[in-house]
Amino acid sequence: MTPERSKAARELLTFYAEAGVDAVIGEQPNDFLSEPEKAPATERLPPAVRESVTARSPQSADARTGHAPARATAPPPPTPDAAVMAAREAARTASSLEELRAILDRFEGCSLKGSASRLVFADGTPGSRLMFVGEAPGAEEDKQGLPFVGRSGQLLDRMLKAIGLERQQVYIANIVPWRPPGNRTPTPVETQICLPFIQRQIELCNPEVLVTVGQPSTGALLGVQGIMKNRGRWFPYNTGTREIRALPMLHPAYLLRSPIGKRLAWRDMLAIKKALGT
Ligand code: URA
Repeated sequence: MTPERSKAARELLTFYAEAGVDAVIGEQPNDFLSEPEKAPATERLPPAVRESVTARSPQSADARTGHAPARATAPPPPTPDAAVMAAREAARTASSLEELRAILDRFEGCSLKGSASRLVFADGTPGSRLMFVGEAPGAEEDKQGLPFVGRSGQLLDRMLKAIGLERQQVYIANIVPWRPPGNRTPTPVETQICLPFIQRQIELCNPEVLVTVGQPSTGALLGVQGIMKNRGRWFPYNTGTREIRALPMLHPAYLLRSPIGKRLAWRDMLAIKKALGT
């Protein structure tokens, strides 16, 4: 490569990195604007549920290039409504957390799965008395396949230790189990599609106390807006089988940026400790 081309390539990479593109998800360009070929009728019917909960069939390779055709045989993505319905239906059928994980792993209704490296399902101990639910995995979580293992996760670990708890004594998950590209906020549609799964995960974990970490989790699970106003307040949460107590808290990522908030977070941790009677 000439020095000019090498410089141009470096500049392009810098541009991509600054625009939030931090992962390569394929080696061949994918023409998303081209008309997808119609899937055979048997594949299209019944519409959403079947296509969304089963893995796509492998695509045959192009004889000339050896690469799978970009969109030729892939079924069209389900509409958001169909994906939400499929998610509800799929989540309902899980009778254990292991089953739920397997169902989520096969679920094709959320496009974030395509750009994430892997599913980030949960960490800690199923059946714990205390469950934390964050927003979505970041880069480190995506690498390790575990929630809250990056910088904010390490802060969460220290906050837990401060009230005498280890990570393995609680259960931790996220509203969205796939990393959004460039750590962007999950869209409302992505959140709605993933919601039935986390709701079922909470029901199956069956904690006594649920902590919603940050506004996106608080909004999605408790339906309230304004984390500063609502943090530290107890809300009833119906798991589907019983009512438990839920507490919104400030997100550790926010606390890393605004350490002044740690004073409030400490109060919330003490409230959690008191609720558990430990
Ligand atoms: N932030 C979250 O909300 N969840 C994680 O798993 C990591 C960071």
